[in-house]
Amino acid sequence: MHEFSAACSIVDTALEAANSNNATKITVVNIEVGEFTFLIPEQLSFNFEIASKNTIVEGAELHIKKIKGQLLCGDCGFEGESKVDPDIPPQIAVFAPMKCPKCESSSTTITGGKDFIIASIEAEISESTT
Ligand SMILES: [Zn+2]
Repeated sequence: MHEFSAACSIVDTALEAANSNNATKITVVNIEVGEFTFLIPEQLSFNFEIASKNTIVEGAELHIKKIKGQLLCGDCGFEGESKVDPDIPPQIAVFAPMKCPKCESSSTTITGGKDFIIASIEAEISESTT
């Protein structure tokens, strides 16, 4: 379960951030998901709900921004956005080599869009320090 482990790490990071900022409740988590993570946003949101149960992250909104994948072609030198065939399901595309959109070569290097990052977290901060 690719999405579940990703969701767990989002929740962990949110909890750590909450701890170090005296937050009492996480309200919004903004993440950026690279195309080549092949994380499915709907699955990610669903697993985020499960992973955050019974924590102060529970009920937080997960805002997912998709980041396009970037390729560098070893044959023609093309550098830029990939074109993932929309007909290939992500479960299969993750194992397929990324083809250069210019010359169709498979000797490409992924230069971006491999990661998902937590861009920002919004939280309610406790007013009292006692
Ligand atoms: Zn090429």
